[in-house]
Amino acid sequence: MSNAPTSTRALEQLLLPAECLLCHGLLHGRDANRIVCPVCRHRWRPVRPPWCERCGQPEPHFGACRLCAGWPAALTAVRSAVWLANGAREAVLALKYRGLPRIADDLAEAMALVRLPADGPSVLVPIPLAPKRLRERGYNQSDALAAALARRWHLPVARELLARVRETPTQTALTPETRLANVAGAFTPRHGRGVGLPGRTLVLVDDVFTTGATLAEAARALEQAGARTVCGITFARAVIPDFT
Ligand SMILES: [Zn+2]
Ligand SMILES: [Zn+2]
Repeated sequence: MSNAPTSTRALEQLLLPAECLLCHGLLHGRDANRIVCPVCRHRWRPVRPPWCERCGQPEPHFGACRLCAGWPAALTAVRSAVWLANGAREAVLALKYRGLPRIADDLAEAMALVRLPADGPSVLVPIPLAPKRLRERGYNQSDALAAALARRWHLPVARELLARVRETPTQTALTPETRLANVAGAFTPRHGRGVGLPGRTLVLVDDVFTTGATLAEAARALEQAGARTVCGITFARAVIPDFT
């Protein structure tokens, strides 16, 4: 979004009717530039505690949390703003597939309410797309979210730390272990070891959390490059089937 030319953005606004993407209610006044109206945004259901302090999964746990057991040590906390329901799924699909990066601003508003248990200065790191996917889509949806969130949190965005080596095949397998195997090696640090931003918490930004496999793999690459503390934030969290 931030690197979309102004003319593209203006054109997008001209072509789009000023109505809510989800309920088609009219957008007026200070909501005229939005994609989703306040009523629909209020229908998104926040993810609330009690949850696993590490992965933020609120399902009741018996014994150790299996969801985050295989995560790299550097990935200390992940939180999601809302459940992938009540129109949040449609909003994510619009962000990813309907060429509406401007909707990132509506999503980031919900994300900005999340409190990450990170202390000290932070840097937002969008989950990168592989170059081919980026060319096809024209923008990276995680980058659009990171840019919109950065404006609200007054944080820098670091796009140069991570590269995506390959896209992940559609994640049909649902256990945390198979999802981790599915994304293994998908990311690489851009500049080899030691690039890290000393003393900074790196906050990975993505659209949807399902088992956290993508965030875990990206954190692994950052850890290899010397990052000590990595957190993650996503707009939505998918309800996953019980895999026990
Ligand atoms: Zn609406
Ligand atoms: Zn957990």
